Amino acid sequence: MTIFLDLAGQTATAFNNFDVVSGQSGGVGLLDVVGDATMKQLTYDDVSGQLPTADRLSALANTDFGAPIIVTALNGGNDPYKGNDITGNAQAYTDHSPGHLVIRIVYDVSQCCGKGIVARNNNGDNITVPNPVLLYHEMAHVFLEVNHQPDVESSVIGDENVLRAQLGQCLRNVNDHEGGCGDGSDCGGNDGGPDSGPPPGGCAAGTTTVCFVVSAATGSAQSDEVHALRQLRARVAARSVLAARLIDVVYAEYAQFSPAIANRIEGDVLARRAVLLAVVRPLLAWYSLAGALAFDGRGEASRRAARALAAACPRYVGSALLVEMLDALATGRALPAAASPLLRGLGPELRTASSLRCARWAVFDPLARAWRAAAGGANAAHGAHPVDVVEEVAQWLAQAPLELVPCIAPRNDGVASRAGASDEDWLALASLFGFQPSALRTLGTRLAAAWPQADAMLARCGYL
Ligand SMILES: [Zn+2]
Repeated sequence: MTIFLDLAGQTATAFNNFDVVSGQSGGVGLLDVVGDATMKQLTYDDVSGQLPTADRLSALANTDFGAPIIVTALNGGNDPYKGNDITGNAQAYTDHSPGHLVIRIVYDVSQCCGKGIVARNNNGDNITVPNPVLLYHEMAHVFLEVNHQPDVESSVIGDENVLRAQLGQCLRNVNDHEGGCGDGSDCGGNDGGPDSGPPPGGCAAGTTTVCFVVSAATGSAQSDEVHALRQLRARVAARSVLAARLIDVVYAEYAQFSPAIANRIEGDVLARRAVLLAVVRPLLAWYSLAGALAFDGRGEASRRAARALAAACPRYVGSALLVEMLDALATGRALPAAASPLLRGLGPELRTASSLRCARWAVFDPLARAWRAAAGGANAAHGAHPVDVVEEVAQWLAQAPLELVPCIAPRNDGVASRAGASDEDWLALASLFGFQPSALRTLGTRLAAAWPQADAMLARCGYL
């Protein structure tokens, strides 16, 4: 009970690739996962006389290794969990995201957007790497990992050659791990069927932005709202590497729950409208205000963005009920009885999502702040204090969960870690807090608590 297919990926293709790996023995199956609509379990029942590659699949599918193996087949583009571009490539790794330990296989099933994926034989000539072979190579890495054996590339390629031999494909040089995009020989072998080549309809290379819910709520992956999100992300990435890395981590968490929610609302006009009004527009206005403050300070652009945020949270949507609902999610209480059947139906998904720390910070916290400000604005007429949204944005940014971004913590000796978060990176991030320096200090105090070794750097860069 260990292999799962990620529904955020090309599930049918992955299933067919596993079927080829099994030698089309008829033993491969799919099961729903109770309580988790983001994936399906891949099952394997042994069949007498099955091929060695089916034995391997059986070992992975039928042994509990203590961590699920989640397989994401991508039509080119970025690994939604790690953020890197995997077009023409594949990777297997242990994902230590907060809350759960999983082993991931993420592989490109677009054959490098139709250019083909190649490796080399003993003569150094290019040979093809059909999708099932690409998958099986990563399965071999995972097999070593879960059996606590050293990850030796030559033995992985030796395993890969077992499947190649079964298919009549060219054999790969076990001492040559190089590969890439291009044409090669298939030695007249079987590539494993239609899902072994590029998919019809092209490839998403480099442009996969997983705005599932925004796309579903607005009815298009090309809507103004989706474009605005992409633009803001690009603008942030241009100013700060660390902020861009944080966004990648947020996206990775977001991808865990958003396809299920997107599926639920996609076919329902009223639900889409509700999510657009209650979630998508207020969040976009919130991010835009944060962007305006970070990039332009407290000038006219920010005042305009603050007015747009107020307009995106109109009273008729029911700010008081939304605040109650978001509070219930944040504290684990039951959803208010007045919540719509749709929202109550989405309760389990929303609860899982709000328990993910990055998603909570990026989605639920700003929504609660935005709707509370809207409710406060409505009450101001009755003498209550209006909420200062600029201060709310500052407090929100101060809670940015940078301590959850892998490989950016400084080492003990003060030298930046291998992945390269330098003083320059930290200074670039600090510059986004010019509109409210006290928020930078709050962030600094939090990071110093998480990383005692980072005091000197944090002081040098103005965080303490
Ligand atoms: Zn490898």
